[in-house]
Amino acid sequence: MKALSYGHQDINQNDIQAVIEVLESDYLTQGPKVEEFEDVLCALMGAKYCVAVSNGTAALHIAVAALGVEKGMEGITSPITFVASANCMLYNEITPIFADINSKSYNIDPTDVSHKLTPDTRLVIPVHMAGQPADMKAIAMIARKNNLHVIEDAAHAIGSQYADGSYVGNCEYSDMTTFSFHPVKTITTGEGGAITTNSETLYRKLLLLRSHGITNDERVLSSNPGPWYYEMHELGFNYRMSDMQAALGISQMSRLIEFKNRRRDIVSYYNSAFAGISWLTPPWEAENLSSCFHLYIIQIDFQAIKRSRKEVMSYLSAKRVGTQVHYIPVNQLPYYSELNTDKTPNAESYYDQCLSIPLYPGMRNSDVDKVIKAIISLDK
Ligand SMILES: *Cc1c(COP(=O)(O)O)cnc(C)c1O
Repeated sequence: MKALSYGHQDINQNDIQAVIEVLESDYLTQGPKVEEFEDVLCALMGAKYCVAVSNGTAALHIAVAALGVEKGMEGITSPITFVASANCMLYNEITPIFADINSKSYNIDPTDVSHKLTPDTRLVIPVHMAGQPADMKAIAMIARKNNLHVIEDAAHAIGSQYADGSYVGNCEYSDMTTFSFHPVKTITTGEGGAITTNSETLYRKLLLLRSHGITNDERVLSSNPGPWYYEMHELGFNYRMSDMQAALGISQMSRLIEFKNRRRDIVSYYNSAFAGISWLTPPWEAENLSSCFHLYIIQIDFQAIKRSRKEVMSYLSAKRVGTQVHYIPVNQLPYYSELNTDKTPNAESYYDQCLSIPLYPGMRNSDVDKVIKAIISLDK
């Protein structure tokens, strides 16, 4: 029997048909489907502008670039994230500083953000870990007081809602929000990403940076000798999304709420099965937030069950239950540990105990039962 992995894409016949239709049309690379996908994302989130790009890392790269922060300055992010949340600063010659996480939400702790501020801090990149929105009100307050930019890394959080019910990506608390549509994320375009913003200035910069810094927009050309003419205004990249990817994205977006409901159903099923187990901590969700649950992360007291994490992973794998660790603290990775001495004790103790177990909409109830049975048997 096929093993259950910690996450998996969900592609149906409509998704496949949407891509085939593009293959039979005139546009393969960026064309009308990309704009339509951007409009669908804006409509869900209530953001004014959206720029779809080739992946989530590209989204973060040009989001930071669009801010125009002076080289050598600092930006703060969480150590419990994928490396891209910090790498995007290094691409722009900004030094990443790591603030500790809150041990309950696994999100960046605003108090430690305040502690890590220096006169050189210009930017904060909170990550909505596993789908749960970070404490954006507190972060926005710190940003306002200290004149900082804010980019939300919402790679895990498409479909998640803040306390007032509005969707992550509305940029009420930030300059920009970035997304990833890698197959393991909540909706997929194969590879893909997007940035939302309410600032027209940032939007225009992002459009330039996505495509070589080149424009033929008459409003910004310095002269206009004829129809062939274009100018390059920024050192941009080729970070375009293709129409094939965008068509898949549009189709997947029509299934987002269905995905979210199924994910949340599985989460509550897991939560009740794991309640009261002394050596296991299920994920915590703040009462007023609505996470789309990209991951189901449990914390295990490995000493109590007398098995190491490595032993647990191979025991579960033998029972066809795939698991993964999200994440090794970024500031402990060799490339960063040489640059960085930030203390993040909560992130370290979280890392010692965390394990992601299977969660994706295509899981059958019998799959969920199988995972529960295997996990519960760990202390036998
Ligand atoms: C997946 C991910 C990214 C990067 O997205 P890609 O599309 O894989 O480039 C960035 N940040 C976080 C938190 C992610 O999980």
